[in-house]
Amino acid sequence: LQVLAGLVPVAFVIATSAVVSRVPGAVGHGLHSAEWRALRDALLVTGGLFVLEQLVSPFQFTIAEALAWRVDDALRERILHASFLPVGTSLLEEQQSLDDLTDVVDPTRGAGFTAGSACAGLLALIARYVRWATSAVLVGVVYAWWAAAALALAALAVRVGIRSGLGRLAAYERSFAPQRRRRNYLARLLTHPSAAKEVRIFGLVPWLQARFRTAALDAVVPVWKVRRRTVVRPYVLSVPLSLVLSGLVTVAVARAAAHGDLTLGRLAFVLQAMLLIGTLGQFFNECDFQTELGMSSYEALRRFETAAEQQAYAPAATPADVSGAPRDAIRFEDVRFAYPGSARRVLDGLDLTIPAGRSLAVVGLNGAGKTTLVKLLARLVEPDAGRIAVDGIDLRDVDPEAWRARLGAIFQDFLHYELSVLDNVGFGAPRLVGDRERIGAVVERVGADEFVQTLPRRYETTLARSYEDGADLSGGQWQRLAIARALMAVEDGAGVLVLDEPTANLDVRAEAAFYERFLDLTAGLTTILISHRFSTVRRADRIVVLADGRVAEEGTHDELVAAGGRYAEMFRVQAERFGAA
Ligand code: ADP
Repeated sequence: LQVLAGLVPVAFVIATSAVVSRVPGAVGHGLHSAEWRALRDALLVTGGLFVLEQLVSPFQFTIAEALAWRVDDALRERILHASFLPVGTSLLEEQQSLDDLTDVVDPTRGAGFTAGSACAGLLALIARYVRWATSAVLVGVVYAWWAAAALALAALAVRVGIRSGLGRLAAYERSFAPQRRRRNYLARLLTHPSAAKEVRIFGLVPWLQARFRTAALDAVVPVWKVRRRTVVRPYVLSVPLSLVLSGLVTVAVARAAAHGDLTLGRLAFVLQAMLLIGTLGQFFNECDFQTELGMSSYEALRRFETAAEQQAYAPAATPADVSGAPRDAIRFEDVRFAYPGSARRVLDGLDLTIPAGRSLAVVGLNGAGKTTLVKLLARLVEPDAGRIAVDGIDLRDVDPEAWRARLGAIFQDFLHYELSVLDNVGFGAPRLVGDRERIGAVVERVGADEFVQTLPRRYETTLARSYEDGADLSGGQWQRLAIARALMAVEDGAGVLVLDEPTANLDVRAEAAFYERFLDLTAGLTTILISHRFSTVRRADRIVVLADGRVAEEGTHDELVAAGGRYAEMFRVQAERFGAA
């Protein structure tokens, strides 16, 4: 199709030249002569070619669009695959990969030029170059080869200038990914429901608008500034050369025609072909941004994939078997960890034993590293030194998916899925998502069945008010469903359950009651309860106090109180303050 699209305009020019060459004969011989019929035929062919050209261009557009969609669909799959390739989540927090993701994901969401549109644009170049080359060859055949070469070169010079300027501009623009990320974030704040409350209460709109404006300009103004220089300079250099060459050819053609060396038809052809050849020296609307920026987007995807592959799990020849683990204990052995880009060690020589089948509470002040400990346990991040072993097997030798199947964890910021109650609970065990009976039984066990029965569509109710028959829950109700979710993981074979302060918005007494209920429900399982409140976890089998990146104290509640150390002090202060003593 692209070759056809390139050839039709050339054929059109040949046909119009034939029309021009036949006019004198037709005029001389009158309406019923053979010359008149020849002119008429040439006109009909010209008309036919005109119609063909009109037909081809919508097809060119549609096919380019379809091609871009197919390629982009495939790339979306690749983004998804690469995002889940790394064992942990730290790649998704790194500057470089966030920049790369902005460059890949934004365009594929329809906000820019995608790799798919680059493919379509690349094919569209065929039409442009076929037109240029065939016109030039025909000028050589019809008139003179030196003229053909001069015209082709003149157009090519302008073209190279435009493309190289565009290339430099795009390369420069690529370095503004962090600014674009900031701009997009501010734009989201203005429209995203999660920010709606604060934005209104604090009257942030004018501030956000001003900041968005600044951020948006920060992302583009430097590019605009160099744009003039980068894009215009090559023009200034190449256009005079092009003018001189085309001027020479025009004069030579005119003189040849005046001397009778060139027939009227050939003169008409060469003059029109000059214009056709010259169209190569343009900005191509259907190709240039697409190929330049679309390829950048693809390069960003390649960088992201490479980084993801480096962090992917390399399966061992005989992967360690952790089904049924932990039977004995999970051990943190001299574990050290600092977040990438930070010098401060969150965990610094942590030794901790988590015995199987018992409950362990980890307490410590905010920022002590409790959540980090859980992330390490789930292999969302990897230790810098030391090792984590389950029943003596280093976690690094275990397939992360197999290990995570053994874990159920509810974090402080657990997800409120805008989906049905069944899904919200069933997600603890995706294999059991359709098992209404087991989900119902677990919901009853956590004492949530009562309020679920009052929802408009009971277990089918979508938990968001933005849906028909949807409902939102209170914080406490959400927490119960979250616990049910964790228990579903147990239903599907998880052996370790972690509660990482999903109760932070409860008061002390409610948190204590909640944890006690949880301990009752999970007796006999390996459970880890996390809290910054020392007074809510005293029923755990064992309590460790995390401070300065390691275990500062450990024992049962009574032992720790008797020891009169940090735990005893914090317990007394916090219990008194909340009147729970
Ligand atoms: P806790 O759960 O005990 O409150 P965390 O484990 O969440 O503490 O955090 C421990 C320290 O690590 C804090 O100083 C926190 O600022 C830092 N931190 C937590 N998450 C990240 C992260 N993703 N990147 C960099 N630093 C982090």
